[in-house]
Amino acid sequence: MTHNTAALHDLTVAQLAAQLRERKVSAVETAQHFLARARANASLGAFLDINEEVTLAQARAADVALAAGTSSAAQGLLGVPVAHKDIFVTRDFVSTAGSKMLAGYRSPFDATVVAKLAEQGVVTLGKLNCDEFAMGSANENSAFGPVHNPWDTTRTPGGSSGGSAAAVAARLAPAATGTDTGGSIRQPASFCGITGIKPTYGRASRYGMVAFASSLDQAGPMARTAEDCALLLSAMCGPDPDRDSTSLDVPAEDFTRSLNDGVSGLRIGVPKEFFGEGLAPDVRAAVDAALKEYEKLGATLVPISLPHTELSIPVYYVIAPAEASSNLSRFDGVKFGHRADKYTDLIDMYKKTRAEGFGDEVKRRIMIGAYVLSHGYYDAYYLQAQKIRRMIADDFQQAFKLCDVIAGPVAPTVAWKLGGHGNDPLADYLADIFTLPGSLAGLPGMSMPVGFGAGHMPVGMQLIGNYLKEAKLLNVAHRFQQATDWHAAKPEGF
Ligand code: GLN
Repeated sequence: MTHNTAALHDLTVAQLAAQLRERKVSAVETAQHFLARARANASLGAFLDINEEVTLAQARAADVALAAGTSSAAQGLLGVPVAHKDIFVTRDFVSTAGSKMLAGYRSPFDATVVAKLAEQGVVTLGKLNCDEFAMGSANENSAFGPVHNPWDTTRTPGGSSGGSAAAVAARLAPAATGTDTGGSIRQPASFCGITGIKPTYGRASRYGMVAFASSLDQAGPMARTAEDCALLLSAMCGPDPDRDSTSLDVPAEDFTRSLNDGVSGLRIGVPKEFFGEGLAPDVRAAVDAALKEYEKLGATLVPISLPHTELSIPVYYVIAPAEASSNLSRFDGVKFGHRADKYTDLIDMYKKTRAEGFGDEVKRRIMIGAYVLSHGYYDAYYLQAQKIRRMIADDFQQAFKLCDVIAGPVAPTVAWKLGGHGNDPLADYLADIFTLPGSLAGLPGMSMPVGFGAGHMPVGMQLIGNYLKEAKLLNVAHRFQQATDWHAAKPEGF
């Protein structure tokens, strides 16, 4: 097959899948093209592991299936390369979760999300950098170095799925997986000018996702368009009762089915708490313009209130560290990964292993978590946070009586400079204000590009839907992307 592969990386997943099906390009050529791009742009820091042999073997298998035309890949992802956030364990690639604790770790199995995509004939391109155990908002907490934003390499790509967002924005992969505990799909998607969706909590199996905060963690796709996200999400979701007890008993859905529904008459809730003082004027201007565009498309804007928005920061930063401190107890030098070289006895081995293996932010959260769960403080912090979490979820249910979807900014500012928050973890925490409420409520949320702000950095708009309304969110985003071309903008040099 001879084909000019020069612009393969500019194709969307949907376009690429069609070219593969029509045999205009082979899966092997496609994989080689993206592997070459990943290698040539290694300085972005997006990839943590590449294994050309494995990738090309998968691509060859996809080509055989494509040639036979016998694929059962209903979603038509056969031969499309996707890279995975390194929080998903994989048999054929190293799985580190961005931590020295798991440097060089090989899992005996694939995470369910990875396996489900593989079943559809998706070719794995490699593993993507992320904040250590997905804790962070800037990808600066990775033990393997930061990721650079392709729009301005002196800036953060966001976090914790920073490698995923940077790889997709720089066209090193047509799409990637991410995980979102408190915003880690939506915020990096926003910072890198791509589209990403976090489904309803429990939609995608958490089996094989290295656990951060189990009551919040959720997997989702990151790509350039809502249509691509719909294709991938359809393959990623579905019940997994034997392996994830919190997975929802809701059948996998074809999220592409209603992409083209009209948005005329759609009621878009605009929460006043998302447009207060803390919102930078450049971000506000882009989000306002997108809301106007929706009005042109026939939607109505409805003022709503999510009164407990501000409390989502303290609530999240109690609950997430509490769950993390428990989840991370498994890294003790015995079961997985790193073990200190020199120690005197078992307790000393635990201490030295954990002191060496974990980075500062992870240690900070383990300490906060252990503190809020400890006798005497449990009621004052953890239990209190759980109660407010319920109130935050109730706010959304009140709001959804008035509107079909909620729209607002993803983050208060565009991507900041790497190192820009210095050693101030609070500055990172505060920037999560608009993504945390939806996470605490377990609602589906997405980010899509709606313009540019200061420094010509991308601005994302967040869309939040009620439980299981992913198809609606993707439809609402797709209609916007049909009417505008922000999603097609491309960073210079890529
Ligand atoms: N920025 C948030 C945190 O640091 C969210 C991270 C995430 O969603 N994984 O915890």
